[in-house]
Amino acid sequence: MIANTDEARTGYRNVWVVAEVLGGQIQKVTYELLGAARSLANDRACEVWCVVMGHGLDGQIEPLFHGGADVVLAVDEPRFAEFVDEDMASVLVRFVDTHKPEIVLCGATTRGRALIPRVAVAANCGLTADCTGLSIDPENGDLLQTRPAFGGNIMATIRCSNHRPQMATVRPRVMNALPADTGRTGRVIREQLLESEKSTLKKVVEIFQDTENAINLADARFIIAGGRGVKGPEGFQLLKRLAERVNGAVGASRAAVDSGWVPYNHQVGQTGQTVQAMVYVACGISGQIQHLVGMQSCDYIIAIDKDPDTPLMQLADVAIVGDLFEVLPEIVREIPRT
Ligand SMILES: Cc1cc2nc3c(=O)[nH]c(=O)nc-3n(C[C@H](O)[C@H](O)[C@H](O)COP(=O)(O)OP(=O)(O)OC[C@H]3O[C@@H](n4cnc5c(N)ncnc54)[C@H](O)[C@@H]3O)c2cc1C
Repeated sequence: MIANTDEARTGYRNVWVVAEVLGGQIQKVTYELLGAARSLANDRACEVWCVVMGHGLDGQIEPLFHGGADVVLAVDEPRFAEFVDEDMASVLVRFVDTHKPEIVLCGATTRGRALIPRVAVAANCGLTADCTGLSIDPENGDLLQTRPAFGGNIMATIRCSNHRPQMATVRPRVMNALPADTGRTGRVIREQLLESEKSTLKKVVEIFQDTENAINLADARFIIAGGRGVKGPEGFQLLKRLAERVNGAVGASRAAVDSGWVPYNHQVGQTGQTVQAMVYVACGISGQIQHLVGMQSCDYIIAIDKDPDTPLMQLADVAIVGDLFEVLPEIVREIPRT
């Protein structure tokens, strides 16, 4: 366990980003976190470090410098070709103990959520999950970690005054990556896995992808989302037709998912995914705060609802008052097949 005392707080420095590696590739959320880390590090007058654990990382380190890292701490291990949370957590705890970062950021992804709480427990420092805003308190340098609380009805700003490092997770698509600066370079520290860090409890036997239910909401430019107003799985077929016409993806409110009309991986919102589509069409979704937090940063929002006074109709760039079963077929008819 890493000791934490008020005095120990002073020995901690730099902002770390734990890279998300999937199938040997560094994922976009890493660059979004680097963008956030860069601004925090500028305020703290310190460096941005990126910790990368994977295999076959050649060629993937330079872009991290372009994205804002000053130092890359890399572990390139065959054992890390797949995600092994226990081993990666042990390594990360060692790095934290040795280098003492002041702030550690990690993606609030399936992998990040499996990895980082293990590190926070070992480091005895707590963790603020799903932050939507991060800034530095100019008074004392604490990290101010803002996130929705009480079911999303209020935004809470959390600080960790007495322990270091300060650890937070951020969902994909919440922070902005910096434009790549190909002139930037940095320092690489290569590390190896110690024998004692190889867990014996788990062995990855097989990795398979659920291609049948695979959807990529996070990267979709057009999202056609449905809520309770869609009334059933048949209604979602109508949304799917429109999504196919515009090469988009189908999203859903939790009410639709809880009703069993579409699988959970379509859910947008606080307990679903955060999306940043170019166009978001909400059909029969009232727009409670828990839904809005997942889609309100989409560029252009179109809402179709019978009730003109819902929060989503108020937020939308275009609000169409009407029965979605009449409006949607008209829209589909207007869009030519590609
Ligand atoms: C801790 C917590 C986490 C949550 N996380 C999420 C989350 O991640 N995502 C999420 O979405 N919700 C989440 N919720 C639930 C959220 O509070 C709402 O209950 C939910 O979003 C409502 O879904 P809805 O808008 O589809 O349903 P409703 O609020 O019932 O809205 C249905 C809308 O459809 C309209 N309508 C009905 N028929 C038609 C028609 N024929 N044509 C046009 N319009 C029609 C109605 O006028 C209404 O506005 C969460 C709640 C909690 C407490």
